[in-house]
Amino acid sequence: MDRLNPATGESLDPVPDDSEEDVEAALDRATERFAEWKDVPIRKRQQLLENAGEVLRDNEDEYAELMTKEMGKPLASARSEVQKCAWVCDYYAENAADHLQTERRPGPSHAETSVSYEPLGPILAVMPWNFPFWQVFRFAAPHLTAGNVGLLKHASNVPGCAEAIQEVFEEAGYPEDVFQSLIVHSDRAAQVIEDDRVKAVTLTGSARAGRSVAKTAGENLKKSVLELGGSDPFVVLDDADLDAAAETGATARTINAGQSCIAAKRFVVHTDVYDEWLEKFVAEMDDLTVGDPTDDDTDLGPQAREDLMDDLHEQVQDTVEAGATLELGGEPLDREGFYYPPTVLTDVPRDSAAAREEVFGPAAAVFEVESEEKAIEVANDVHLGLGASVWTQNLDRGERIAHRIDAGMTFVNELVKSDPRVPFGGVKDSGYGRELAQHGIEEFVNKKTVWVQ
Ligand code: NDP
Repeated sequence: MDRLNPATGESLDPVPDDSEEDVEAALDRATERFAEWKDVPIRKRQQLLENAGEVLRDNEDEYAELMTKEMGKPLASARSEVQKCAWVCDYYAENAADHLQTERRPGPSHAETSVSYEPLGPILAVMPWNFPFWQVFRFAAPHLTAGNVGLLKHASNVPGCAEAIQEVFEEAGYPEDVFQSLIVHSDRAAQVIEDDRVKAVTLTGSARAGRSVAKTAGENLKKSVLELGGSDPFVVLDDADLDAAAETGATARTINAGQSCIAAKRFVVHTDVYDEWLEKFVAEMDDLTVGDPTDDDTDLGPQAREDLMDDLHEQVQDTVEAGATLELGGEPLDREGFYYPPTVLTDVPRDSAAAREEVFGPAAAVFEVESEEKAIEVANDVHLGLGASVWTQNLDRGERIAHRIDAGMTFVNELVKSDPRVPFGGVKDSGYGRELAQHGIEEFVNKKTVWVQ
């Protein structure tokens, strides 16, 4: 696989693709390993997962540098990502057995019934480059511990991360082939999903990729979980703490250089506080340092690929042409690498690119609304429904509005984030199924009913 360092545009050593025979052999090995792994006591599987967390912590710098080199996130963020992966390992190492405990209850007609959670087999994970370790551990930690075996098809620009993640499990002492990375491009994913040896698939990525994976899974009657994009609203009401809403808003938009499904993308602001909040927000965005991701002072690194930066710039230009006002940024930086500055658009037409599409970079679309009712309408006026953030000092009001927003997750006075203890996922075109917490680990298990008369 060809890959470029997005901070410099320089080529990195290519990683060879797996051949057809390599993939065939990997699927055979996965099937064989599953036959044994499913019977390993869950306490043992939890112990191995705890070890994986330790391997991550021991090699934090190495993995962080790899992420930075392949997809450009600042080193400090990459280190935090490694720590978060260790956290999700700790979480399921502690809680998996409780989450998957067999439920026994008296059944009808004096029968005893139970529901137990049995693994399905080899599960394919199609994963993106934006959080190249976290997205994979979010999948692997619960589902390997539930007794499944994992096959990873990682994004084509992060093959080094894919290989390193396989090594984490090997170093942690997992039996060989419980987790395998397949180094293949997306045009070979369908073939793997169709294969009888693969029992289910999960994808994190674009709606386009999601439709394709869901179609193949559906045709083959296989379970799928989809975590697709978002165009999360960040709603600032007339009684919000404006300093906090401006500061957190800028962070929420620019986290990972704006390349996050749960980044705040559309800012919906009550007219009574609009001018004051906008001034503070633009100042916060302007204050961010764009630069070399290996530099400790950098807030925003480059966009992960040149084509992604070009798509982002096209969305910004289309939105301006449609009538929006550019308050800040709006042009790629004139330097090597794929750098885009924090950008703020106001007067954004409701049918423009920034209003209707996922904007996967540090460009904020701001909407002024005259009432709470209008704020909810604008927040819901999009085909995506992943997360949402609502800002008000009246917590009852915040909670009430949270329930009226079409999203899988709504946070009041906080940015949208993933946390192993709470379920993560969306509605509408943001996908279906849940990751993390108890809900996540239950996605790829057979909830087996046994009736004993
Ligand atoms: P993609 O959705 O194309 O890539 C994500 C993963 O899906 C990669 O592993 C990719 O493989 C794979 N993939 C792509 N197409 C298919 C397919 N037809 N069948 C099976 N697997 C497939 O995202 P891009 O990297 O091209 O980014 C485009 C846009 O997608 C972004 O601008 C953003 O809007 C959205 N996105 C959202 C993410 C999120 O976290 N929700 C993450 C990444 C992107 P390969 O790399 O080999 O093509």
